[in-house]
Amino acid sequence: MNCVNHPDEDAPYQCHRCRQPICVDCETKLGGNSICPACLAQVREQAGKRLDAETRNVNYPGGILAGALAAAAAGLAWSQLVVLTGHVIEVGSTVLGGVVGYAVMAGAGHKRGPMLQQIAAVAALVGSIFGYLLIFVRTPAAAHQVLVGAADLPSAVYVFPEYLTSLGALNWLLLALGVAWAYWVPHVRSLPKQPS
Ligand SMILES: [Zn+2]
Ligand SMILES: [Zn+2]
Repeated sequence: MNCVNHPDEDAPYQCHRCRQPICVDCETKLGGNSICPACLAQVREQAGKRLDAETRNVNYPGGILAGALAAAAAGLAWSQLVVLTGHVIEVGSTVLGGVVGYAVMAGAGHKRGPMLQQIAAVAALVGSIFGYLLIFVRTPAAAHQVLVGAADLPSAVYVFPEYLTSLGALNWLLLALGVAWAYWVPHVRSLPKQPS
């Protein structure tokens, strides 16, 4: 079999995509598979269009608004669950991060980009702290009452930092995971690797 582009050359490879025989000079590796020049150009063009569609005309106000609303709603829902069950449910901050990430992406018009990643991470962090504040205010756990006395909002806010610093490593780990998740969701998916 000879190369589809070079009739005089042997074709030790076959294009993974169009199945045409190709020579050593025409062959490029893409994701571990052999690909011909024509298919490589098509793949890169499609990826470029996808990247454009994902990253152009980003609705930043929409992303910020959706992130803030999602953070507030998820924080409220999480604290409500905690009040109902009597357990802090640390993984709530992780779930909150994921929810916020998708909300920011959707609110921005299903767009991606570094700015949206940062917005999502900040919203997830603020949302989690808000969630812990609501949990702190609303759970009548003995530890809280010692710190707050009566669990009314003004005094609770005053001693809230003390409660935050008393949180364990698990709380912080799961909170960090949530922030990372929020940051990951609107990341820009990269183009196929440049042939060397
Ligand atoms: Zn091909
Ligand atoms: Zn060739």
